[in-house]
Amino acid sequence: MIKNKPCPECHSTMELKKTTLHFEREGFYADVENVSAFICPKCGTKSVPGKLAVNIGNTVEGLFKSAKEIKVSTEKDLAPAFSGISFHMVQA
Ligand SMILES: [Zn+2]
Repeated sequence: MIKNKPCPECHSTMELKKTTLHFEREGFYADVENVSAFICPKCGTKSVPGKLAVNIGNTVEGLFKSAKEIKVSTEKDLAPAFSGISFHMVQA
C-alpha cells in the first residue's frame, strides 16, 4: 500500500485512518464503519484505496437494491418491511 499519499485538494500528506462512510439512496441510508482510508488532516478529504472502494460500493449497492425490492413488494398501505440494516463485524 502507498504511504504518504498527497491530498488531491491541498497537497498535504494524508494519514491512513479508520473512518465511517455514509451513503444515501432512495430513502435509505447506509453507514460503513471502520473503513481504512487516507484522510487529509488539513482539509478532511477522504480517499479510499481503489479495491476497497469497489468492494464497499458493491456491498452498499446490494443492500440498497434488496431494501428497495422489499419496499416495492410490500402492500401500499403498509410501511416498508424494515427501514434500516445495522451490519457489524463481531469483535473477537
Ligand atoms: Zn487536503
